[in-house]
This record gives sequence, structure tokens and C-alpha cells, in this order.
Amino acid sequence: MTTFTVSTQTRCEMIDITERVTESVRKSGIREGLCQVFIPHTTAAVTINENADPDVPRDILAALDRIVPLSNQYRHTEGNAAAHIKASLFGASQTVFIKEGHLVLGTWQSLFFCEFDGPRTRKILVRLTAG
Ligand code: ZN
Repeated sequence: MTTFTVSTQTRCEMIDITERVTESVRKSGIREGLCQVFIPHTTAAVTINENADPDVPRDILAALDRIVPLSNQYRHTEGNAAAHIKASLFGASQTVFIKEGHLVLGTWQSLFFCEFDGPRTRKILVRLTAG
């Protein structure tokens, strides 16, 4: 398993981590298998979406803010209830196939680390399985 960190700059942001995950695959030498990405945090997540137009992650974050407002009479008293809810909506893991040494992603797809309670330093775990 590989661990790497990202330092986020704002409360909510989506950071393209595809290159860093791809580097893990390349270093492993695995040609065929599975790549699992896991986020060991309760207010962050990982998702796959469009990398070409930066307005797509902006729209996603703006829509999430409308669906899950920062303040909304939450019971959780840490002040980050919205971040917990957003993290659960997106989930803590993604699995991507590895074929011929490359991640199998669609032309416009990237893996995005999703920060919902930044700025913080976050861990990203990557596990590669040959087969
Ligand atoms: Zn909390």
C-alpha cells in the first residue's frame, strides 16, 4: 500500500490526483489488476469526474453547497456537519481497473480528492492488486 498526502488550501476543493495514482501504478510494475484509492478521513472523499473543464468541479462543489448548506440546524457541534454529509455522499473509496500498466479511465475522467473541511493535510491510500 502506498500513502501520499495532499495539502488543501480552502474549505472545499477538488484536487486531481490521477497523476499521483498513475505514478504508483507505474512504480509497481503491475500490468493487469485493480487500483483501490481510500481516503481515511470523515470529512473528505474521492470521486471520478471530468478533468477537462475546470467548471465541472466548480459546479459540483457549488451544487453540493446548495444541497448541503454549511449551516442547517445540524446536531453535530464541531461545525463541520456539512462536511461529514458531503463525504458520505461521495464515499471514501474508488476502484479503477489497471490494464497494460495504465489506469482504465474514460477520456475525460480523473480521480479527484475532495476536501470538504479544509484547509488540512490529508492522506490518500492507494492499494494495487495484480490479477
Ligand atoms: Zn465533525
